[in-house]
Amino acid sequence: MTETSINGWPASKDEREIHVRSFAIPGTVRHVRVAEDAAPILLWVASKFHRAVANLDKEPLAVWGYKYRPALQGGGALSDHASGTAIDLRSDRFPVGTAHMTLKQRMYVRRILKRCEGLVIWGGDYKSAGSKDQMHFAIAPGVKAHDILIWRVKYRIDPNGRPLP
Ligand SMILES: [Zn+2]
Repeated sequence: MTETSINGWPASKDEREIHVRSFAIPGTVRHVRVAEDAAPILLWVASKFHRAVANLDKEPLAVWGYKYRPALQGGGALSDHASGTAIDLRSDRFPVGTAHMTLKQRMYVRRILKRCEGLVIWGGDYKSAGSKDQMHFAIAPGVKAHDILIWRVKYRIDPNGRPLP
């Protein structure tokens, strides 16, 4: 297992090798395939996004997780989707290329990101022309599984992205 995605997480054509599996997104009927260690924070982001930004239940084929493929920008480097550490939320409403969100939606995304304390990056912050990707959330480069564990203990989130009682 020598390949890594842009953020440094192990990537593979074989999803079992990198512990990718299907998780329910809390509060929705949707499932998404992500790496176990990244799941708590990505699922938490998706559930908040569903409540505050756009309804994930509305569009059946608009939520994406693991996919072995190169990054859209990155000279052949593997996408964070190839390590199961990225999710796309409402690809129908927020397709890559330009900004589609309202000011209010962006404000909620900022709020979600703030709670992630730098562990998650947002494609809406991509600067190069045509690369804006507001549906895309990924584990930030340099973040380790241990950082996500500390985060979820701090905010009392379970391994499936649900708040602990
Ligand atoms: Zn994406």
